[in-house]
Amino acid sequence: MATAADTIEFRELPHPAPTSDADRALALANPGFGTQFTDHMVSIEWTEGEGWHNATVGPLQPIPLHPASAVLHYAQEIFEGLKAYRHPDGSTALFRPEENARRFNKSADRLAMPHLPEALFISAIEALLAKDGGWIPEGAGASLYLRPFMFADEVFLGVRPAKRYRFMVIASPAGNYFKSGAPAVSIWVSSEYTRAAPGGTGAAKCGGNYAASLVPQAAAIERGFDQVVFLDAVERKWIEELGGMNLFFVFDDGRVVTPALTGTILPGITRASLIELLRAEGLDVSEGRYSIDQWEADARSGKLVECFACGTAAVVTAVGRVAGHDIDFTVGSGGPGQVTEKVKATLTGIQRGEIADSHGWVRKLG
Ligand SMILES: *Cc1c(COP(=O)(O)O)cnc(C)c1O
Repeated sequence: MATAADTIEFRELPHPAPTSDADRALALANPGFGTQFTDHMVSIEWTEGEGWHNATVGPLQPIPLHPASAVLHYAQEIFEGLKAYRHPDGSTALFRPEENARRFNKSADRLAMPHLPEALFISAIEALLAKDGGWIPEGAGASLYLRPFMFADEVFLGVRPAKRYRFMVIASPAGNYFKSGAPAVSIWVSSEYTRAAPGGTGAAKCGGNYAASLVPQAAAIERGFDQVVFLDAVERKWIEELGGMNLFFVFDDGRVVTPALTGTILPGITRASLIELLRAEGLDVSEGRYSIDQWEADARSGKLVECFACGTAAVVTAVGRVAGHDIDFTVGSGGPGQVTEKVKATLTGIQRGEIADSHGWVRKLG
């Protein structure tokens, strides 16, 4: 049965002073990542009993929060990240947004939050893009990053799932994720900290996971590395992922390995798409366990020829140098290899409408 929420209407709140064309052009000329925002936002409220209601698309503005709002104390918050692209034919396209909608509800399950109907997740994004479609930058590697999120705003300090939530979507024009636009990232192996433990929230896209990754990430930066890689929490041996990206390992015999989704790894949509694209290239892709010791041994012997990280924000990025307390090695040439370059070109070509989408991944908006 379709619930009322499936067909919810967005009330439009007028914007008193939208950004001028000149200022927007300036913002889009050098978007950076995550610092500039479009004119509008979507907001939908949920309360126990009433469900989803009061859907609006209106001016982007600060939101009033009571200091006792549950999210500020117990971190009931989840989010998604996806991009809108301007295709050569002038249309606007999303990449597999249904997968983001589905994963959002899986995250909601783990954080004891209500489901948002998948159709409503998508129509919220469409409502925002109908207002802010002019904010999609057009340069190479540029897109409009969309950030749907949900948090508990019930005013209550007791510990239990909240009875009030708010879902929002904001958008931020994005250029390259890594400021340097470097051809490869360097990685620090964290032996002190883990990201996720069995039974924890590692497979959910929740803010709390990121909060816990900031100290190890900052330690990596301090040592001069770009990113931290986390090992499993039990044996401190198996490669899991970076703070916000999944990993792939490419071998000289045509095998490709990516860590299996054991519950402590975020199931990336980029990851899932790359598995399919690499298989279509004839590569033998498996999901399994790969240890830090094996990583070093294979890089040194030359069996491991490429390694790359992937995610919506940074797309596909080669991993060069890898170091930790008693290891230091470089994968392959230290820069992007052939497999990395090719699969990145295929994925971004599909996303940008430059390569035919034979997978049904691209969703064009009206
Ligand atoms: C979002 C995220 C990813 C990448 O997922 P995509 O769907 O490919 O963007 C990987 N790891 C973590 C921890 C994430 O939060």
